[in-house]
Amino acid sequence: MPGIRGLFIPGPTNVPQAVRLAMDIAMEDQRAPDLPAFTLPLFDDLKKVFKTRDGQVFLFPSSGSGGWEAAMTNTLSPGDKVLIARFGQFSLLWADMCVRHGLDVDVVDVLWGEGVPVETFAEKLKADKTHAYKAVLVTHNETATGVVSDVAAVRHALNDAGHPALLFVDAVSSLASIDFRMDEWGVDVCVSGSQKGFMMPVGLAIVGVSQKALAARKTAGLRRGYFDFDEMIKANKDGYFPYTPPTHMLRALRASVDILLAEGLENVFARHYRLAEGVRRAVSAWGLSLCANAPKWYSDTVSAVVIPEGFDSAALVKHAYNRYNLSLGVGLNKVAGRVFRIGHLGDLNEIMCMMALAGSEMAMRDLGIPVEAGSGVAAAQEYYRETGAAAALRKAA
Ligand code: PLP
Repeated sequence: MPGIRGLFIPGPTNVPQAVRLAMDIAMEDQRAPDLPAFTLPLFDDLKKVFKTRDGQVFLFPSSGSGGWEAAMTNTLSPGDKVLIARFGQFSLLWADMCVRHGLDVDVVDVLWGEGVPVETFAEKLKADKTHAYKAVLVTHNETATGVVSDVAAVRHALNDAGHPALLFVDAVSSLASIDFRMDEWGVDVCVSGSQKGFMMPVGLAIVGVSQKALAARKTAGLRRGYFDFDEMIKANKDGYFPYTPPTHMLRALRASVDILLAEGLENVFARHYRLAEGVRRAVSAWGLSLCANAPKWYSDTVSAVVIPEGFDSAALVKHAYNRYNLSLGVGLNKVAGRVFRIGHLGDLNEIMCMMALAGSEMAMRDLGIPVEAGSGVAAAQEYYRETGAAAALRKAA
């Protein structure tokens, strides 16, 4: 099919040209004497993206899931108790991985459409007088349902209870798109990946680790090999890696971090909010609702749209792909067939969102889903105009 494919899954996201070109290089010598002059400033600048001064950022050639494994194996021991809420496919998979590593996992099941139940966490932490919980795990942005959780509130719950458990956050689909403050929120391990807010191909787990979590590895008894922080620390301090690093990905990461810092993180977050809000206006104009069942849960990187009873969202996503060359996200697990997802993160602007909305609207109408022609598109257009060009023109007048 001629023309470009509209990529509106919530990762991998569109890769900007500067990032693609940065990768298009001859293979490099991973032990070259001048490599540290490139890697050491990159490690430092990555800390700005995590908003950490005291933490350390590790880069593992892996997808984001490897970051989950790194977080637990470097800090915990077999049988250690951890607390996690399960409210979507990714929090579910993280909890599963904890079980497979022999941890004692206290899972709080929450309605898919809500996020971390902070009050329940607070009660459990207060009641845990012996400090049995060694870590509390928070999926900041549940990509399956488009739900964002309040990490700062979980930190307050830990502090209120005087609880020393480590705080792990999965920020795979939020870092570099939705505000995240590693030091301020006292996050001990933050797991991310290259293919979402960083606008790169998949292939790097990007993991921020606090000094407290680094200290925990001295007593952590879980087996670890490839993901051992110790090996990374030894090699990274001089700007190298304990194994052959994917240098083309490091070059891409440099370009990505440059783009993010040039735009300014706060501007990046504001842009994501605005683009997401336009999508939400469209969903509401269609007469549909989001899987996230209250505004406090709305994600600025992905919207999971519930389609009316009697329709199959998988068929819709397939039709959009085949007919309009438009990739939307399918519903996963419990919400399979019930929701389709519009990813609105990364290298994205208003017109790109309009493409996703127009295509979704056409595909829904093709399949007989009762949405009024142009309704969502018009609502988003007006929101983007009102808060963008129209606002700027008013200011200039
Ligand atoms: N956590 C979240 C919130 C995700 O969205 C994903 C993937 O989409 C993962 C973890 C797993 O990351 P990966 O597929 O890169 O291993």
